[in-house]
Amino acid sequence: MTIKDTFLEQKISGWGGYPFSDSKIYVPSEISQLQEIISESSPKSIIGRGLGRSYGNPAQRQNGNVVDLRLFNKISLDSDESKVIVGGGVSIDDLLKEIVPKGFFVPVSPGTRFVTIGGAIAADVHGKNHHVDGSFCNFIDYIKLIDGNGKSMVLSPNNLETKEFFWATCGGMGLTGFIIEAKLSLIPIKTSLMNVYSERINNLDSLMQKMIEHDYKYKYNVAWIDSLSKQGRGVLTSGEHASLDQIEKIKKSENDPLKYDPKAIAGAPTFLPSGVLNNFTVKLFNEGWFRKAPKIGKNNIETISSYFHPLDGIANWNKIYGPKGFLQYQFAVPDHSSHLISKTLESLRTIGAPSFLTVLKRFGTSNSGYLSFPMKGWTLAADVPIAVEGLFEVLNDLDEEVANAGGKLYLAKDSRQSELIFKKTYPKYFEWKKIKLIMDPNFKFYSDLAERIGI
Ligand SMILES: Cc1cc2nc3c(=O)[nH]c(=O)nc-3n(C[C@H](O)[C@H](O)[C@H](O)COP(=O)(O)OP(=O)(O)OC[C@H]3O[C@@H](n4cnc5c(N)ncnc54)[C@H](O)[C@@H]3O)c2cc1C
Repeated sequence: MTIKDTFLEQKISGWGGYPFSDSKIYVPSEISQLQEIISESSPKSIIGRGLGRSYGNPAQRQNGNVVDLRLFNKISLDSDESKVIVGGGVSIDDLLKEIVPKGFFVPVSPGTRFVTIGGAIAADVHGKNHHVDGSFCNFIDYIKLIDGNGKSMVLSPNNLETKEFFWATCGGMGLTGFIIEAKLSLIPIKTSLMNVYSERINNLDSLMQKMIEHDYKYKYNVAWIDSLSKQGRGVLTSGEHASLDQIEKIKKSENDPLKYDPKAIAGAPTFLPSGVLNNFTVKLFNEGWFRKAPKIGKNNIETISSYFHPLDGIANWNKIYGPKGFLQYQFAVPDHSSHLISKTLESLRTIGAPSFLTVLKRFGTSNSGYLSFPMKGWTLAADVPIAVEGLFEVLNDLDEEVANAGGKLYLAKDSRQSELIFKKTYPKYFEWKKIKLIMDPNFKFYSDLAERIGI
């Protein structure tokens, strides 16, 4: 029996539960099996998948072959060099369990640890430290990839011959081939705790002003916004890895300062009817969340999980949006167009779109990724239920404004933008496509996202 006979037919979606596709799922464990899948697949029919944490449809293909790469899961740490060689299917969750107790942390962490290295590279993910450090691919020495020809390639940003393939893969949403391994730089840490400054701030202008000030003071910086408040009030949390001294002073020291024990505490109910998450429940939640933060800024010691991955504590929280699912609207705009943040919040409020997860971050300079998302300025992300009436019309109008302002939408969160908006806002797409045609001349790698945005 060959790998081509071992698929499972399944209806799958991204994290938002919208949209779904019927795909054949393969779970290979060897390079030769990946090569077999590639050689026997027709054009526009294969895409890699990690943990399905993208919100929309980049890791699925209607009637196509979805290749789950989680069995490429080796981790090999070189403590002396502060580097790790990781399989493309290794999750940041597994990696942290291995490296934190040894005094290391990932250089960039998204808001969930349940993403794979392949997914982190394919989306060139950003964290709360983008304003200082940039995105995930800035820390990669090489990527091992099986391209559309079935050829095994080692891509390095420092090698003139492979540089453009490397940057086409970073942020390339899996469309240049299967990422099977990467070498990643780590950062040293003395404790597994975070020293976090929190402050609740009553209006959006002051919150944004304080965030700009904190760009220069803190490595990590993020704000949660109460999407239902007219003033755009929110909570700013700025953090640093805690030193040994700091955890001693606050008397939170344990025998092992590098102890790391993240837990999922509870599961969200799977069958909540659409509408349970409404303006009333979100208002209650938002009020509580805002009041919980100190009125006058103060520092606290927190765990890595509670600071970086707060929602991972609740298994399957995406189910609270009910069967119709939800989407995340995440855009980036340059500093001069920061008015689009209040405009977006106001537009979502006007149609009564409740969002308990609305997050504002600062971005530093972009890297060389042709399709990487981060660009200098602001990024706002808001989760909203699909069922809200008028949502798509409002978002289409906002897309236009974001595009006219020189901004763009994040492909890893996108489930609805048009081809027109994508091509207007990702001008390096045309160069990227030339590179894709070298790496995948028969256009075998393709996803439902790729089809929607006309790749
Ligand atoms: C709660 C939550 C918080 C998040 N916070 C952030 C954040 O702060 N910053 C941020 O940048 N992102 C964030 N994300 C998005 C997430 O980091 C990305 O969508 C990431 O790509 C998901 O990784 P995954 O392994 O689940 O990949 P999937 O969702 O399965 O796939 C994502 C893309 O990667 C490709 N891919 C996956 N594995 C491979 C591989 N081995 N080879 C080739 N291509 C591959 C797929 O084809 C697809 O295009 C968040 C998501 C959630 C659910």
